[in-house]
This record gives sequence, C-alpha cells and structure tokens, in this order.
Amino acid sequence: MKVSKLLLKTLRETPAEAETASHQLMLRSGMMRKLAAGIYSYLPMGLRSLHKVEQIIREEMDAAGAQELLMSALLPAEYYQESGRWDVFGPEMFRLKDRNDRDFCLGPTHEEIFTQTVKSEVSSYRQLPLTLYQIQTKYRDERRPRFGVMRSREFMMKDAYSFDCDEAGLDASYQAMYKAYCRIFDRLGLDYIVVDADSGAMGGSGSQEFMVKSDSGEAVVAYCDDCGYAANDEKAECVPEILEQEAKKEMKKIHTPNVGTIEELVSFMGTDSKHFAKTLIYVAAGKPVAVMVRGDREVNETKLANLLGINEGDLEMAEACVVTEVTNARVGFAGPVGLSIPVYCDLEVAKMCNFIVGANETDYHYENVNPDDFTPEKVADLRTITEGDVCPRCGKTIKTTRGVEVGHIFKLGTKYTKALDCTYLDENGKAQTPIMGCYGIGVNRTLAAVIEQYNDENGMIWPVSAAPYQVIVVPVNRDNEEQALLAESIYKKLQAEGIEVLLDDRAERPGVKFKDADLIGIPVRITVGKKAAEGLVEYKLRRDNAVSEISAEDAVKQACAFIRSELA
Ligand code: ATP
Ligand code: MG
Repeated sequence: MKVSKLLLKTLRETPAEAETASHQLMLRSGMMRKLAAGIYSYLPMGLRSLHKVEQIIREEMDAAGAQELLMSALLPAEYYQESGRWDVFGPEMFRLKDRNDRDFCLGPTHEEIFTQTVKSEVSSYRQLPLTLYQIQTKYRDERRPRFGVMRSREFMMKDAYSFDCDEAGLDASYQAMYKAYCRIFDRLGLDYIVVDADSGAMGGSGSQEFMVKSDSGEAVVAYCDDCGYAANDEKAECVPEILEQEAKKEMKKIHTPNVGTIEELVSFMGTDSKHFAKTLIYVAAGKPVAVMVRGDREVNETKLANLLGINEGDLEMAEACVVTEVTNARVGFAGPVGLSIPVYCDLEVAKMCNFIVGANETDYHYENVNPDDFTPEKVADLRTITEGDVCPRCGKTIKTTRGVEVGHIFKLGTKYTKALDCTYLDENGKAQTPIMGCYGIGVNRTLAAVIEQYNDENGMIWPVSAAPYQVIVVPVNRDNEEQALLAESIYKKLQAEGIEVLLDDRAERPGVKFKDADLIGIPVRITVGKKAAEGLVEYKLRRDNAVSEISAEDAVKQACAFIRSELA
C-alpha cells in the first residue's frame, strides 16, 4: 500500500480525553475515531490490526476443534426471559422494540442463543462433545465506558460455548480452551497471568481470567511468588490476621463528638485503625443490611453479593437517609450492638477483642466491644485482599498488581441448558442435560492490551503478529529519481514475497515520515536515501535503535527472514 493513498491522519498532540497509552496511541495513529461515548469507528490501520487478532483467535479456536458460526446481534427477548437474564442484566442491556412492539435486545453475550441452537440441532449423545464459537459484536451499556476500546459499549468478542455429556467431558473441553487461550496470548507476545476468578451470580464450578499486567488495568490481581497462587481480588480468599489477644474488658459508651470517619477516630482515640470495626450499611436487593470489617479493611462487594445470593448490580451503599433511618444516627456512627437489621461480619472481626464500633447514636461510640456483644446473621470472608496479606495457599506474602482482563473461561454447568430445556438422548435413549462451559475473549481489548505492553515515547511498537503492516519503505526524497526507483523496487519485491508493506511516497519532509513510521509502529523500516545510487539502504527495527547500512537486496532478505521467524 502506498501511504499517499492510505486513509491515515496522524495527530501530533495527545487527545486530552485519552488517559491510557493505548487509547492515546490508537487515536494519535489514526487507528480509530470516537463516535460517541464508548463507540468507535475503526479506520484502515486499526481494522487491519483488529483482523490480525481475530485471525489468530480463529486459527487457535479451529486448531482446538471448535467450530465457528455466527449469530445475530439483534436478539428476541424470549430466550433471555427464559434464563432470567432479561432482568439480571438491568441497565447494561441495550433494549429495543420492533414495529409490532415486541421486545428485543442487542446481545451482551450469547449463552442463551447457543443453548437454543444446540437444543434445535443436537439430539443424540453421539453429537457431543461440541464446542462452538463466533467472533461477533457485543453491546453493553457500560456504566463507565473508558480507556477507549478497553471498556466500550460496542465491542468484538470471541465467545465460545462447550456442550458435554459429563463433568469429565467439561474438564477436557475447558482444558482445550485454556491451552488455546495460552497460545493466542503467546502469539500476541502478551505478558499475562491466569487467575482464579469469581463464578458469582453466573453459578458454575470454576472460572479463570487471563490478565495482562498493566497499570491501566481496572482489575486487581493478588498473587504469591512463592507458591504461584493468583486470583482476582474479587475472589482472592483472605486469611484473618489475629491480633494480640487480651482479657475481655467491659463495654463502654464514649462521647466522640463529630468523629465520624476512621481517620478522625484514629486521631481522636490515638489508636491504630486495626482496633476499630467499621459497620457499613448496604441496600441489598431493596433491603438494608450491615456489613462489618476491620477499620483498615475494605468490604468486598463481590463476596458480599455471593453470600447474600444476589447480583452485584443489586447491591449498593445505602444513602445517608437510609443509614439514619436504620441506625438512628448520622452517617459515621453505625455499629452492630442493638442494630435491628441483619449484620454480616467478616471473619477477622469475629476474632478481634476489645474493639471500637459506632453506637448507633450520633457522636457516640462503644469501646471494648467483643464478638459476643452482638449476634451476626453470618460470619464470612467479606473483605478484599491487599498487598502484604497472607497467601491463603502457602502462608507467605501476597503481592498485588493491576491487570487488564482479556479473556475469561468458565465452567458453567447446566444453568442455561436447564433453563432453556435443552436435552439430548443418552445411550439408553434417556433425556439428559448437557453441561456447558463458556469462554470469552475481548478482541478489541486484547488489541489495546498489546499496545499497552508495546510502546515507547515515540509511539507503538507492534509485534509482527498484530502489526497492520510489517515493513515500511521510506524514500527520503521521493523527487530524487534514484531513490524513488529503488524504494519502489524494494516495495515490489517485498510484496512479491507476501510481505505486508507500506511505501511512504508522500511529499513530506523525512522527519515527518520517520515520526509517523515510529508512531504507527511498523516493525521494520527500510530507508532509501543518498546512497541509493550505490544500492545501499538503511535497515532498522522499530523495537531497537541500531541502524545498519546494507544493500537493498540484503534488506529485502533480512526483512523477509525477520518477519517469518517472528511469525513462526
Ligand atoms: P469486565 O469485568 O471487564 O466488565 P466481564 O466480566 O463483564 O468483564 P465477560 O462477560 O467475561 O466480561 O466478557 C468476556 C470478555 O469480553 C472479557 O474478558 C473482556 O475481554 C471483554 N469485555 C467485556 N466487556 C467489555 C467492554 N465493555 N469493552 C471491551 N471488552 C469487553
Ligand atoms: Mg462487565
């Protein structure tokens, strides 16, 4: 492709709205443009890279024995109503009506539709196991679309679904997807970790996420270098810290005027926040509940929702008026003693002694409170793990890192097959319910994660596997005939070798061309300058600084060899 003909406008300035490297660079390099919040148009360079990622996913899915098909994005409500998710999705689901007033949605994920397909196409155990997938557009009206295509409202997902006769079959299908995911992310050169994830409201017996380590990641991963434990912080188990035990003292009400936050309490009482237990009021599926964690800990809303058997979307912090109604006090003075709503207490709090809590009376706290001074509804692991915590597996120290969730694999069980009454006949002619797994990869998010990992101050540094073009040939002065001819002949030879090559034939200053080549991150640059007359060119890889002066022929050979070895 000749750059003079390419729809490509690069930006020198970083767009103010873009916070992350990938978002900034995708805009600056003209890969995409924003149309509305969380909605983007892909321009030629962006689309080429997106297709590369898609193709790698497709090849590995096919190699793992999965079969590709394609579902509509526009879906009738009935299947989601049957599974119950028409309600569960809440405002995240884009809904619409047709001219006959029938309900539809734009598919946020397709478990129901694949189940329906298997229900209609599969009748015998002989047709199982089966893994089906598609690479297709999903719609989610995210509460906070951000970071460009990392969290957008329209995005491409590879979603796969396995159907098996028994648990052992599910294990095998799941493992096949696990391995395919590793190959996909390896081919893209991503530095990722696989972590245990929450199976939450989706039910199911296990799930793992593929996390690309990145400061811009929205997920927090807890991991242990000693034993290899790794889990999403929504899921990571917390080991209670047992503080020094002392003899039980008598509970006492104390006057704490205007001391409503943990920080204020720490300075007022002159003790560590570890000696307080905070009581937070939530509204869970419409009903107020109280949750207790140690003063320096955070409530883990995923764990709380799971304990209550509700969706995380149905859980929210209570507004001030609700807090006052249930505690008879201003916000900041809630406590478990004498509270009439159910109290859910973190494991750690249940092991504390002589601690401080709110007194359910404005400007008052109780000190020397002990677990037998109140009756929790349940005691459970309800806090979020933090750096320095104890590893739940080996007892050493937990570290945390931010990560971008690029893929998710999930042992679903029979939730959807049961809900949609999908069955097959076993060897004995008896109807049985297939066991499902589901496996998603965010295609655009994966592309953005590659950019997050491969960039420098000058722009992107594409790994060959995802580069929109593999080589760029830059004549320094296209009006010089020798340069123009040599550049053109290198371009033609590379094309004949099947290499994806750009020829920057624009009438721009060399500085502009070099800047653009760096910004768009093409892996190999061949510069044709003054020594064209001697048949010499400059050969440079985007990922390192060394420039070598070699013959045009060698440059073609080296480029081909490099590209092929990178892709092998
Ligand atoms: P998240 O926790 O980031 O919202 P999720 O749990 O909702 O993700 P899944 O339903 O498991 O995601 O979807 C499968 C994959 O689709 C995710 O691993 C992610 O890579 C991608 N994905 C999900 N939501 C978005 C989005 N809004 N924009 C881009 N990619 C997304
Ligand atoms: Mg989500």
